[in-house]
Amino acid sequence: AKEKGRDNAQVFTSNMTNAVTKRFSFEKEVNDGLSSDEFFLVYQPKVLLEKDNILGLEALIRWNHPVKGLISPADFIPLAEESSLIIKMDEWVIDKALLQLKEWRDKGLSIVPVSVNVSGRHLVSDSLVSFISKKLAFYGIEGGYLELEITEGVLLQDIQRCIDVMFELKGLDIKISIDDFGTGYSSLSYLKRLPLDILKIDQSFVEECDKQMEDAKICETIVYLARSLELSIVAEGVETAPQLEALKSLGCEVFQGYYFHRPMKNTEVAKLLSPNLEE
Ligand code: C2E
Ligand code: CA
Ligand code: CA
Ligand code: CA
Repeated sequence: AKEKGRDNAQVFTSNMTNAVTKRFSFEKEVNDGLSSDEFFLVYQPKVLLEKDNILGLEALIRWNHPVKGLISPADFIPLAEESSLIIKMDEWVIDKALLQLKEWRDKGLSIVPVSVNVSGRHLVSDSLVSFISKKLAFYGIEGGYLELEITEGVLLQDIQRCIDVMFELKGLDIKISIDDFGTGYSSLSYLKRLPLDILKIDQSFVEECDKQMEDAKICETIVYLARSLELSIVAEGVETAPQLEALKSLGCEVFQGYYFHRPMKNTEVAKLLSPNLEE
């Protein structure tokens, strides 16, 4: 993300006025979009070995732009991350995900934990923990149903602050996972100091894990690392049966990917959740 910021900065200085105008209109469009329901969440299941065994869901943001149509987060998250706009967006996602859990529960469905992607800027801000605890109380959802996905890069910026915030999150029973694991540079000593729950093996290693020895070895190493640190593992971006078999043989049990489920609308998710029989 840092690399990208630098590239953009170069483009911006070569045409300053244009860049300022562009950023201004981007921010306005996001703000307008957030208040007029142009954004929505899709959810991708994480499964334990089988398609129907849904352990949790990842919330992923989508933007249905009035002119440009459906825009992928890859096209607006990096831009939003350049300013505090990302905090507003992350907060919108957390609010919507918790509201969704409340709605599913109110419909008599048995809910599963939902993970949201949180940017580094937001994690180290003073507002994250208080925002989450306020929202959990408001919707009556237990912290155990919320998980935060954080990319490794974040940890390198202000490790002590990350540790402090993560312990506060632990106090709310919220789970923390490291997203895209293996693509950053987190050192082992950092990992040991952080109260983490899950490592998500990046899809770039999963992609060739059935074909390339190097990628299989990386996946295997991540699995061993997770075991020794007593963390759970999620393999993401699983698309084919051979990938799945390779990952299983390395000891992975929790999967996310098109092979099982694509990200889907809330109404589709509701069909997959079982009725809550305890009520
Ligand atoms: P990510 O967190 O690593 O999310 C996984 C991405 O891989 C998602 O793309 C998902 O749709 C896609 N994916 C899932 N299974 C497969 C598969 O089997 N094959 C392939 N090729 N792709 C698969 P998406 O939804 O376009 O999101 C892209 C990235 O944008 C995310 O990567 C995340 O970094 C960011 N993002 C998405 N939603 C949010 C959000 O609400 N907040 C923030 N801060 N970032 C978000
Ligand atoms: Ca993620
Ligand atoms: Ca990921
Ligand atoms: Ca990613």
